[in-house]
Amino acid sequence: MPQQVLCDECGEVLYQGSDLKSPEEIHLMYNGKCPKCGRKLSLIPQKIKVLPVGSASRGYDGSKLNVNKR
Ligand SMILES: [Zn+2]
Repeated sequence: MPQQVLCDECGEVLYQGSDLKSPEEIHLMYNGKCPKCGRKLSLIPQKIKVLPVGSASRGYDGSKLNVNKR
């Protein structure tokens, strides 16, 4: 399962990959702060999301539901 770590402040993707990284590693990669907004990164792994592969990227096709609208 791929792991994606986002900045809590700006949503910048700090890490994305199939290897699990510890919060400490990600902290070290960016010297403890977000490269985009400069927010100090937390070592608490609450922002780490584990995403399902592929299938979830597309939602249902909502456009078809409007056909019968009066
Ligand atoms: Zn940020």
